[in-house]
Amino acid sequence: MLLANVYLKRGKDESLRRFHPWVFSGAIHHIDGQVQEGDLVRVLTADGSFIAVGHWQIGTIAVRVLSFEDEPVDSLFWQRRLQAALQVRRCMGVADTPQNDTYRLVHGEGDHLPGLVIDIYGPTAVVQAHSVGMHVCRHLIAEALQQVMGERLHNIFYKSETTLPFKADLGQENGFLLGGDAEDVAMENGLRFHIDWLRGQKTGFFVDQRDNRSLLEHYSKKRAVLNMFCYTGGFSVYAMRGGARLVHSVDSSAKAVELVNANVELNFPGDARHHAYTEDAFKFLSQMQQDAYDLMILDPPAFAKHKDALRNALKGYTRLNARAFEKIAPGGILFTFSCSQAVNKDQFRMAVFTAAAQSGRRVRILHQLHQPADHPINIYHPEGEYLKGLVLYVE
Ligand code: SAH
Repeated sequence: MLLANVYLKRGKDESLRRFHPWVFSGAIHHIDGQVQEGDLVRVLTADGSFIAVGHWQIGTIAVRVLSFEDEPVDSLFWQRRLQAALQVRRCMGVADTPQNDTYRLVHGEGDHLPGLVIDIYGPTAVVQAHSVGMHVCRHLIAEALQQVMGERLHNIFYKSETTLPFKADLGQENGFLLGGDAEDVAMENGLRFHIDWLRGQKTGFFVDQRDNRSLLEHYSKKRAVLNMFCYTGGFSVYAMRGGARLVHSVDSSAKAVELVNANVELNFPGDARHHAYTEDAFKFLSQMQQDAYDLMILDPPAFAKHKDALRNALKGYTRLNARAFEKIAPGGILFTFSCSQAVNKDQFRMAVFTAAAQSGRRVRILHQLHQPADHPINIYHPEGEYLKGLVLYVE
């Protein structure tokens, strides 16, 4: 198939030469050929020399680059890319270990595959397309995934209903591309979790907190733990294994509370140390007793989904953390996070600093946390950094 050629304006190839994987619409001089959203296109400099091949899309980002080589994007291409992604996960020690079969295999730009996310949950892969181009390629991707994963893969669930550009109007597209097992239990660091890829948020589980949950486990002994915004209860289950005295999980969604209860039951059947509450975070924090908890986790949803929401988001982080500083017991430890891509590390730290100062407590930073290795950041695409956290000691 002949691909359309996208010619850049003079001088607009600089960021691509540094392997930044996006072409902005303003950088384009003209297009030679017909293009539809999701098509593969070749990107050429003003002089007509090849620079990249990628998916065309409608919007500020016009092309998301798949390769800086002039190569066909065919079955072999997908196999090579997925194989490379698996290789890196093996070297990180997250894939194919007896203790862990839950990991992110493909993290978009971080794996040179903009618009594609693949999470592995034991025998099931959940594939999520964030671009029409990846949606169009879903069957090729599923075939390549089977080749690369071999017999350990039984199911591929495609979950792009909420992640595809709304305007592309591609209809409802959630469903199995392979298999269809009802078995939904996966293992993370030796703990088991039900993964709700059918109805859950994201791909069904927040794989990105694995290392931070592990760290929390080591701080949990004999502590009274409050896991705020608990969702599937990842932090709660690790705290229980770490020897917490009690663990309270809070989420405003009743479905999340069901999930956390099921996951605690799966790992610690009948353990009375755990209780879950369906409640709004701010309400719970303002009504709870002073000093009731000496280990708290705040892992809210992204407060800023876009740059324009930044100011309000920062205020939100300050307000939330201030409540925690007011209430946490002396000698308490606070794990606090932001997963807003639009909020950078310094801004988040400043928001937490303001909260600490308002509370008048003495606070020290013990750890600075971020996304784990299976959510890699392409150094030429700093926009890929999104998760940050602080572990604080509150006197
Ligand atoms: N910590 C979780 C992920 C949190 S996702 C993990 O490790 O998996 C964010 C969660 O916050 C969602 O489950 C959502 O239902 C919940 N949430 C959103 N707004 C809330 C609010 N105002 N109060 C309590 N929970 C809220």
